[in-house]
Amino acid sequence: MMDQLKLLVDLQNVDSEIKDIENKKEDIPRELDTHRERFQSARKEIDFLMENIQRIKKERIKKEQDVQIEGDLILKTKRKLPEVKTNKEYSALLAEIDSIKKKIDRFEDEELNLMEILEEKERDSERKKEELIEEKRRFQEISHQKEDEIARLNILLDEKSKRHDEIVLSLDGKLYENYTKLMDLKKGLAVVQFGDNACKGCYKELPPQMGIEIKKMSSIIHCPHCSRFLFWAEIMGK
Ligand SMILES: [Zn+2]
Repeated sequence: MMDQLKLLVDLQNVDSEIKDIENKKEDIPRELDTHRERFQSARKEIDFLMENIQRIKKERIKKEQDVQIEGDLILKTKRKLPEVKTNKEYSALLAEIDSIKKKIDRFEDEELNLMEILEEKERDSERKKEELIEEKRRFQEISHQKEDEIARLNILLDEKSKRHDEIVLSLDGKLYENYTKLMDLKKGLAVVQFGDNACKGCYKELPPQMGIEIKKMSSIIHCPHCSRFLFWAEIMGK
């Protein structure tokens, strides 16, 4: 019986390890997604910035054209000056020229402002492009690492599965059936330690007589509360 119990403990250990490995494998695509998203959002940011830059460049050209148009208007208005007959008309024209000049000044200020913004955005985009290259490099590096990790986990999984099969071959058929049922029902934990007068699966206290029986290790004992297989860790040398 001792041998069978020891096999159950070994089986539980190896199955827990298999579950751990499978969980790790499942996490990998998620971890990769996080990095991929970071890399893609960096790219989107640059696209957005480049669109912005194009828009500002167009605005700047428009301002330049506006200055040109207003400049032409000043010339046209100045040409009218010699033709005016009265002082009133003359001052009106001068006032008009003055107001156009102010408009030009404003446009030029606005253009200058746009140029400053443009320079800043262009610097920003250069910096972001460098960041993107770095982010891409990091993503590729991590992808490779994760590929290696999956390969390593697969090898480990293979080893553990072989060990699982070996144990099952030596294990009593009825015990294995019972074990499999418990594994399904008890979230992958079918064989647990007895310690501090309690079952370490459900943490409920067990009658003292039961503790004595478990320590004898002469029969397979189940927890009366959760039905799991119980073993005494000290005897198993664990
Ligand atoms: Zn229990």
